[in-house]
Amino acid sequence: MDAEVIAVGSELLTPHRLDTNSLFLTDQLNALGVEVTGKCVVGDDRARLAAAITAALGRSGIILITGGLGPTEDDVTRDAVGLALGRGQTYNPEIFAAILERFRRMGRAVAENNRRQAMVLDGAEVLPNPNGTAPGQWLTQAGRHVILLPGPPKELEAMFHAQCLPRLLRVLPPMALRTLTFRVAGMAESDLDHRIAPAYTEYTDVATTVLAGAGDITVHLRARAADAAYAERRIAELGAKVEAILGDRIYSRNGDSLEIVVGDLLRGRGETVSVAESCTGGLVAERLTSVPGASDYFLGGFLTYTDAIKARLLGVAEELLREHTAVSEPVAAAMAAGARERAGSTWAVSVTGVAGPAGGTEATPVGTVFIGIAGPSGASVQRFRYIPDRERVRMLAAQSALDLLRRALI
Ligand code: ATP
Ligand code: MG
Repeated sequence: MDAEVIAVGSELLTPHRLDTNSLFLTDQLNALGVEVTGKCVVGDDRARLAAAITAALGRSGIILITGGLGPTEDDVTRDAVGLALGRGQTYNPEIFAAILERFRRMGRAVAENNRRQAMVLDGAEVLPNPNGTAPGQWLTQAGRHVILLPGPPKELEAMFHAQCLPRLLRVLPPMALRTLTFRVAGMAESDLDHRIAPAYTEYTDVATTVLAGAGDITVHLRARAADAAYAERRIAELGAKVEAILGDRIYSRNGDSLEIVVGDLLRGRGETVSVAESCTGGLVAERLTSVPGASDYFLGGFLTYTDAIKARLLGVAEELLREHTAVSEPVAAAMAAGARERAGSTWAVSVTGVAGPAGGTEATPVGTVFIGIAGPSGASVQRFRYIPDRERVRMLAAQSALDLLRRALI
């Protein structure tokens, strides 16, 4: 069975608000083996929305509609579904009682228009909304399902898990789904795709998606089949090929971020790390400390932007800075060694580079970054050259710094 998603709300047609509910729903439906074959955004307009629902019903077995269930005049989803399916609405006093109770607990008065949210389409099953006022509704007509869900993502997600998943599992044909996720650092998307495409194109029954962020790529493999053992075998085969091609560029097989992986490695070894950052301005420390429990292995950092501070806080020799400039291999090495010694950590990571837009030279153009790793057996430095865009240089440098640390730890 195929599905379509209709996101309702005039604000979603402006540049200020993006429809993310459909992304969540697509992810969930795909995992159930349901393909989303189309989606659209419709403003708060009864007739247009009714037309969109009628059109979707002519094509797909599952129509998910998000938003427009609230109490105000511009919340038109119930009315539009009524128009499209030729169903009336009936006031449900129990729903209104629940809304009253919710407002009472929050110490707020209930406006009269909230009665609109207690209107139920004839024949609909009510989907309770413990996180908000507007309940969802589920209608079935001629074997097709129309599902009304609230707009606020938290309400929608909770309702989907609690109410929609069990109902969908009842109406969908049984299908086994097996998934594998690889996260990869230090590769360009085109390069990665070029390398693994020969493998995945042979597996037409495994859906492969490659999603790229800044210096970070996620490869999803999804095998669906009526036969669970078959799905298992196909995904294991393709997964092994992808692993063989990408090798240690894969940093995670369960979706964990690079900072979590690095943290787990350090904790497992009973070791610690500190950082010395220049052009990343604390991004490496920010990522390391975003993980709960980072105090087990992260000691602290030095934010050393100028030469004078590099010398004073990290003990980088002034001759070194004069002779090679701050953006150089010897200075990156001295920064890492200085941080390691002064923080008393097992490891230290240093980043020094030219993020731009100004400050580049012929020898070190904008986008040049040196990353140092100091550890028990000395310091090593790697030079990187990124596309000269300040924000990207900073993000990519932080990513490379964490990945170099990971490689030093494995
Ligand atoms: P409420 O009872 O809160 O009015 P509702 O079901 O009427 O809920 P909307 O009024 O359409 O929902 O949307 C409420 C809020 O939820 C919006 O301000 C918007 O921030 C968010 N929202 C709505 N639709 C989406 C969507 N498709 N993706 C992401 N956020 C959304
Ligand atoms: Mg609303």
